[in-house]
Amino acid sequence: MAEIKVYFVGAGPGDPELITIKGRKLLDHADVVIYAGSLVNPELLNGIEAEILDSSKMTLDEIMEIIKDSAQSGKKVVRLHTGDPSFYSAISEQIERLNALDIESEVVPGVSSASAGAAVLGQELTVPEVSQTVLFTRMAGRTPVPERERLGELAKHRATMVLFLSVGMIEKVQEELLEGYPENTPVAIIYKASWPEQKVIKGTLKKLVALIRSGHIEKTALIYVGEALRASDESLGKESRLYHKDFKHGYRP
Ligand code: SAH
Repeated sequence: MAEIKVYFVGAGPGDPELITIKGRKLLDHADVVIYAGSLVNPELLNGIEAEILDSSKMTLDEIMEIIKDSAQSGKKVVRLHTGDPSFYSAISEQIERLNALDIESEVVPGVSSASAGAAVLGQELTVPEVSQTVLFTRMAGRTPVPERERLGELAKHRATMVLFLSVGMIEKVQEELLEGYPENTPVAIIYKASWPEQKVIKGTLKKLVALIRSGHIEKTALIYVGEALRASDESLGKESRLYHKDFKHGYRP
């Protein structure tokens, strides 16, 4: 029997050019593509021959039924997820179910919206001496977050933070972030990074709620928080050791 394998492919943040070559090839040769219609740019599917199904109105059982039947009848199945599948994509439960059915799967990474947003800001998230850590997280909502990862707790690290899935609970987000970050900490909100309707809003943490409200941002946005964000607006004078003329290493002894 031919090898059965299902591909979980990262679609990138929206711009159809921000998918990997591997992902593009898999889409072009697929027989069935199941994509998350709420976030994946449908332009990625223009001109492909596969049967195309939108998962946004399906339950996990329905999605798995289609994947299973298609894969077992020898069709090439691509499950297309927004951004990079390693963030908030719910691939774990799909992979678990495929394992139970003895169906192999492979994950093809994508450009996360978190990377795309940083690119829009023209910004490194790890600025030397300012922050060397990035916390990718979310506000607890209908999906619970472990207590030790409560936003207010994470805020105490004052690392650069990127918040997914949180603009709908913005008062609570601001309140918890203020448990750790000073109120004049820079914030940036990016709505639909890399889409034509992209919006960028910058300000300080104490104004976060007002910035989201006045920008009419209700979903599909990321919130960036941290001192490192000053780097895109002002010179911080912090340079990496790696390229310093006195810093010797294996490639530049
Ligand atoms: N796996 C995806 C995230 C899926 S969770 C990734 O790597 O980007 C969905 C959340 O991601 C949205 O609520 C929003 O917070 C964020 N998101 C996805 N695409 C986005 C985009 N183009 N611009 C801004 N935020 C985006």
